[in-house]
Amino acid sequence: MRKGRDVSSTFNIAIDGPAGAGKSTIAKKVARQLSFVYVDTGAMYRAMALYLTRKGLRRPDETNEAEKEAFRKKAAELCRDADITIVYRDGEQVVLLSGENANPYLRTEEVSSMASVSSAVPEVRVKLVELQQRLAAEQNVVMDGRDIGTVVLPNAQVKVYLTASVEVRAKRRYIENVQAVRSGAVKSEEDLDLEKIKADIAERDHRDMTRAVSPLKQAEDAVLVDSSDLGIDQVAEEILNLAADRLGRPRVVTASTAGFCFGVQNAVDTVYKEIEKGGDGPINTFGPIIHNENVVEELRQKGVGILNSVEEAKAQKDGTIIIRSHGVTKKTWEELSGGSAQVVDTTCTFVKKIHEIVHKASEEGKQIVIIGNHGHAETEGTVGWSSTPATVIETEEEARSYRADPQRIVCIVAQTTFNAEKFEKFVDLIAKNGYNIETNETICNATSERQAEARRIARQADVMIVIGGRGSSNTAKLYEICKAECADTYFIQTVDDLDLKLSGGEKIIGITAGASTPKNIIEEVQSNVRRTDF
Ligand code: C5P
Repeated sequence: MRKGRDVSSTFNIAIDGPAGAGKSTIAKKVARQLSFVYVDTGAMYRAMALYLTRKGLRRPDETNEAEKEAFRKKAAELCRDADITIVYRDGEQVVLLSGENANPYLRTEEVSSMASVSSAVPEVRVKLVELQQRLAAEQNVVMDGRDIGTVVLPNAQVKVYLTASVEVRAKRRYIENVQAVRSGAVKSEEDLDLEKIKADIAERDHRDMTRAVSPLKQAEDAVLVDSSDLGIDQVAEEILNLAADRLGRPRVVTASTAGFCFGVQNAVDTVYKEIEKGGDGPINTFGPIIHNENVVEELRQKGVGILNSVEEAKAQKDGTIIIRSHGVTKKTWEELSGGSAQVVDTTCTFVKKIHEIVHKASEEGKQIVIIGNHGHAETEGTVGWSSTPATVIETEEEARSYRADPQRIVCIVAQTTFNAEKFEKFVDLIAKNGYNIETNETICNATSERQAEARRIARQADVMIVIGGRGSSNTAKLYEICKAECADTYFIQTVDDLDLKLSGGEKIIGITAGASTPKNIIEEVQSNVRRTDF
């Protein structure tokens, strides 16, 4: 093992911490953003454990010193001949054990607990640390493990000690195992027993932290990050910003509310589920599923078509028609449902609620006002749930000049993505005429939270980037808000539109995105911004 080996020609990020702290997920994300290579050292120790198990070695009784010594000797002898190498296939690390892809066998609890015992054998460590140091000397890496910052890469430019409570970690592993079983992996009973997982994790922590060689501990110069209450994206961004600091580049602050809202996510997921089901007949969405050309194009390539009118929908005799999250008019809904194709309705629950309010109020004789954008699919759909003519108000002027029958109640609703401040202002203007008003503040929380967060970030950013489709009204509103706070605000649809002009003194680049912007597009922009040479 070469301590302090010179790896200064490469940039290395070391992430250490106990099992289940989220190291591998986060390290992978950080590596992807920086186009670094991710090195999962735990997988190497697991492969060694698998090798030793296959050679007939069993875990010794922890209380029996003679047994432990015999195990140590045997493992030291056997590990010499273990042929472990790392290759990358489609960006994924594959551990080859004697040339065979060992990845599918590394994640069982049996291999996990064997690994934490065999990794304490000095000869095992010498062998694997050499391999790890070689990888880090050859390329920029994000490497995770237990002793990366302390032993393997003591000169790493960024060191993080990532931890979380035992309860949180056990739960994460449990969920991982349940999901693995759902997607066809074979897991033992103990892999699905939360209490057992918790006990195992605590035991492994203890072993990793108290072993004589390279125990798990925080390097003196490592930054401590507790991920118990943080999301993956937040932790990854924190680490990426530590790297940015070292590289003298601006920090990137991405809004946690950027991207798909609940309703859009559900609509897009539903289309993918229908594709997966692969039933008979075509799959069509009624109108483009979201206001994002890239997503629509990707779906088109998977065979999903778009129906642009009720006539086209009626002509579809089989297969599936998907109603998008914006919703449709009552008439359209009835016409689609009356046809022979199966209808899957992904109308957002918040929009559905507006439909119900409007329908009921209009049946009761109330006059309907919808504060929203003329011609927007959601507004048009909502208008169609009123049994009497509804009025759409988009501008201050329209609010000012609106006149109603003073004898009847005016029921006001908002388009879910409308600006909250403008909504209140328009309601006040309408109220000035003394009408009996019933106000329903139906703006979705996700929208107002997204707008507030965008404003907060834009206020502190030197440059702000707003990502979203050209036809997306909620993205246009975000741009408006950010531009008012940060003069250097860019509105882009994808990374291809980004022509970032930086003076060099920028400290913070902020990013947010509209409700119909997919995560991969946001990540491409983040990655591009981080990699630009300033
Ligand atoms: O991180 P992961 O859970 O995959 O690691 C499996 C085992 O390998 C751990 O329990 C730990 O004992 C060992 N390990 C180690 N040093 C590393 C990485 C993992 O001792 N750098």
